[in-house]
Amino acid sequence: APIKLRHAALFQQACYIGGQWSQAQSGATLDVDNPATGEIIGQVPNCNEQDTARAIAEAEKGFQVWRHKTANERNEVLMRWYQLMLDHTDDLGALMTLEQGKPLAEAKGEVNYAASFIKWFAEEARRAYGETIPGAKPGQHIVVTRQPVGVTCCITPWNFPAAMITRKAGAALAAGCSMIVKPAEATPYTALALAQLAEEAGVPAGVLNVITGKPQPIGEALTRSPVVRKLSFTGSTRVGSILMSQCAEHIQKVSLELGGNAPFIVFDDADLDKAVEGAMASKFRNTGQTCVCANRFLVQRSVHDAFVEKLTEAMKTLKVGDGFEEGVNQSALINRAAVEKVQQHYQDAMSKGAKRVFGPAPEGDRGNYVEPLLLTGIKPEMQVCHEETFGPLAAVMAFDSEDDAIRLANDTPYGLAAYFYSQNIHRVWRVADALESGIIGVNEGAVSNAAAPFGGMKASGLGREGSSHGMAEYEEIKYLCMGGE
Ligand code: ADP
Repeated sequence: APIKLRHAALFQQACYIGGQWSQAQSGATLDVDNPATGEIIGQVPNCNEQDTARAIAEAEKGFQVWRHKTANERNEVLMRWYQLMLDHTDDLGALMTLEQGKPLAEAKGEVNYAASFIKWFAEEARRAYGETIPGAKPGQHIVVTRQPVGVTCCITPWNFPAAMITRKAGAALAAGCSMIVKPAEATPYTALALAQLAEEAGVPAGVLNVITGKPQPIGEALTRSPVVRKLSFTGSTRVGSILMSQCAEHIQKVSLELGGNAPFIVFDDADLDKAVEGAMASKFRNTGQTCVCANRFLVQRSVHDAFVEKLTEAMKTLKVGDGFEEGVNQSALINRAAVEKVQQHYQDAMSKGAKRVFGPAPEGDRGNYVEPLLLTGIKPEMQVCHEETFGPLAAVMAFDSEDDAIRLANDTPYGLAAYFYSQNIHRVWRVADALESGIIGVNEGAVSNAAAPFGGMKASGLGREGSSHGMAEYEEIKYLCMGGE
């Protein structure tokens, strides 16, 4: 392994299909690099349609075994997987920092968060309750049961290399489904390490499969197969839309967790210190690379200057560097394109009258690093109000009335997360009801939790992950009409 691991088998450079580690049939591979240094970490298989077909066949076999396990057996296997993830937090965290870049402490935090989904769904496995309903005729009974949808697949992004997999695979396996995981090209090693631990936990062959490679042929093969009954995707709205149309062919079920454009509203009756704390948590988590990161700060004019001043102070605690360095809390971005997007949003805003309040101008070649930036004077016509920046740029706009704030916040095709700070209970309810987002942080900047239904409205997606709703995405409802005598 390129780094020292306590458990060497957690570094795998092969796919995991039907309980076996294997290469692509063609022998093709893809390089994986460390975004902090640009160094190549290693190679993983570049699977094609034939490799994917093999994974689908194995997942079908796995499903036939797994669906007949009792809920209690599934619970026990998942609880072992959960425990193994916790036991190997250091190794998993190090692998994640190596391939994704995020600071080591944050990577370990993600391992913990990722494991929490496995625990949550292990518990849910035992609560796949049905219902009984009064029948329409004398003696008739209506009984409702839930069954696993079958073979499922997921395609996941690089920003949370572990958690975006466990919140899908945990739900799928708890429901009795098998799954094929296609992790992002940038972060396959974390996914493969999770598969190794799943095997050690006793997940039977074929129940969890991980295939790596260029996404398009794999995505085509997964969505155009009549055997695969469900796709769960997290990534861009552009790719989500392509995949959804491919799923139309066989009416494959889809859950989509897509892009966001989160507003973060600070009203004049907010606790400003709390608001700044929430702003830091929301904006700078994963160096701004999450789909629920605050993308637009909307601040009521009377508290605007005070908020900006406090946020500036707080931003002085941000330390940029290699994720393995002690004390670093902002890392390299995932790649060059990510850096260019921040630079572009910066230049566009500045050319339209924004003011740089904190941070150096993001110019020149600094590898994948960008220093945190704070801009004020943001206007709705700027790019940063329409697209996710996905980087450490805080963009602040002033507003006058509550109605203005709501209108500005909803002025986007997206609707994943929104945040607002107010201490007036009536305003809290009014604004929470009016915002068009699936997730609302009310006086709270950190909203992710396995117990809560995570997902978006509008172009941000379909379905929910986490909570009991997350498991329902992997279940079919079957209704038995039991006739009378
Ligand atoms: P991001 O901008 O975060 O990289 P993407 O939507 O491009 O978002 O990527 C999210 C996931 O979708 C990754 O696993 C990527 O490999 C995969 N992906 C990208 N393009 C396609 C495609 N045409 N078909 C299937 N999967 C794709």
